[in-house]
Amino acid sequence: MSVESADAVQHWGMHIDGRSVDADEQFVIIDPATEERVATVARGAVADVDLAVAVARRTFDEGRWAATPPEVRAQVLVKAADLLGERLEELAELEGLQNGATVRQAIGFHVGLAIAHLGYFGELAARYVFEEPQPTVVYPTLARNVLRREPIGVCAAIVPWNFPLALAVWKVGPALAAGNSVVLKPDEKTPLTVIELVRALEQCGLPPGVLNVVTGGPDVGARLASHPDVDKVSFTGSTEVGRKVMASASETIKRVTLELGGKSAVVVLDDADVRTAVDAALFGCFLYSGQACESGTRLLLPDALHDEFVERLVERARTIKIGDPRDFDTDLGPVISRAQQERILGYVQSGLEEGAELVLGGGVPEGPGFERGFWVEPTIFTGVRSEMRIAQEEIFGPVLSVLRYDDVDEAVTIANDSIYGLAGAVWSTDAERALEVAARLRTGTVWINDAHMLNSALPFGGYKQSGLGRELGPRALDEYTECKHVHLDLSGSLDRRAYDLLLSEPPND
Ligand code: NAD
Repeated sequence: MSVESADAVQHWGMHIDGRSVDADEQFVIIDPATEERVATVARGAVADVDLAVAVARRTFDEGRWAATPPEVRAQVLVKAADLLGERLEELAELEGLQNGATVRQAIGFHVGLAIAHLGYFGELAARYVFEEPQPTVVYPTLARNVLRREPIGVCAAIVPWNFPLALAVWKVGPALAAGNSVVLKPDEKTPLTVIELVRALEQCGLPPGVLNVVTGGPDVGARLASHPDVDKVSFTGSTEVGRKVMASASETIKRVTLELGGKSAVVVLDDADVRTAVDAALFGCFLYSGQACESGTRLLLPDALHDEFVERLVERARTIKIGDPRDFDTDLGPVISRAQQERILGYVQSGLEEGAELVLGGGVPEGPGFERGFWVEPTIFTGVRSEMRIAQEEIFGPVLSVLRYDDVDEAVTIANDSIYGLAGAVWSTDAERALEVAARLRTGTVWINDAHMLNSALPFGGYKQSGLGRELGPRALDEYTECKHVHLDLSGSLDRRAYDLLLSEPPND
């Protein structure tokens, strides 16, 4: 439930046990485009985590949701997806107000994608094999075997600010489909659409207390990751925090899914269609101001195409319209915060200091419309070498680093020269050649002649320090279940070949 506060912005509570729960302290949600107050939100604390985990534990142990037939759980998710779909534009506006996404991107990507993926997890719940009889075996003994996929228990889901609704759905969707109870922690800058998700699910039949939201900062996340009564933690965020989450989870051997940072390479081969590849390179890097984990932020160009490609790239990048995210014509909105803006500009400085050539942007746009807010121009560096910070570190802003290569072996070496391994792309008019290069990239996803295409039915996740486990597709549901083997003896008496290992045959009565 929301209440009007004195200065007329809406106040939002946490959502625990089916009701709004307030706190003594508040977060202020700021519109990154105008720096105006959008809402205030209860600032949850460690005690709220303990309450929410206790509620989730109780609902799980009572077994009501876990015992609900999968097809009924499926209906709840699909109904909620439909309900949110009816509110697409309203939710897109709310998402953009808190994270600066342009209205076009919020409708088509941030919120549109989230709703589609929630519907997918609903459909998946109805057809996922929760119990699978195995062939009867005679070895080691005559027995029937069954594999069961059972919910893990209480799952903690921690999500960042860039795609708050979609990334919450990637965790809540499969967790609920499998029958778990969940405590969800959105980023403190972007909790609003996540709270709407929980309300919609309860409106569509999710029992209160099965899904709870604690709005809080790093202290709340840290408590969730270390709470002894949490059975699984699923985290999306930076690699730096991911390491801490993994360490905390080890104390009680929690199941862990980590979706972390990226520095994806786009490898353009010398037979690529330059016109299309240029537009895709811009789309791959600058969509949502480069604040997507899988953004193609390293562009690898062959010597033969380099100059022609860069010329067109800069020309096309100049047509990107930066400004008011509420305007349907705007291509690029602000970045999330002042701190992020300063961090990105710091990387621009480091690129210059390390000798890269700035061929576009690099600053903050000026003039009407940019007096307030957190803006960074689309920025392109050429002459980047793989050891430079702008080629190695995740900037999370609209900064594209262009590196050149001589032959395909060198391109693959540069592409794999990263602690990250989330995604990558290959551009070629020769499918077989592109597939060969794709096979050599050490990343969880490779797009050939495409960018940013996340498919609800196919796994997404990282190699190396980009993460652990996979989200989306049926594998996502595997990650929220324990696998149990049930062995049912059919021999009718203890099989002596095995029992002789310890016990002699009993005397005849
Ligand atoms: P972040 O790691 O700072 O924060 C992510 C979440 O973790 C937030 O909710 C935050 O409050 C919480 N948190 C902070 N400290 C914590 C702690 N010690 N213990 C537990 N939780 C804690 O990341 P960010 O800057 O908000 O998000 C951007 C990062 O997320 C980028 O690195 C990006 O690549 C990554 N990301 C990855 C994916 C993916 O699928 N691989 C998707 C989106 C974003």
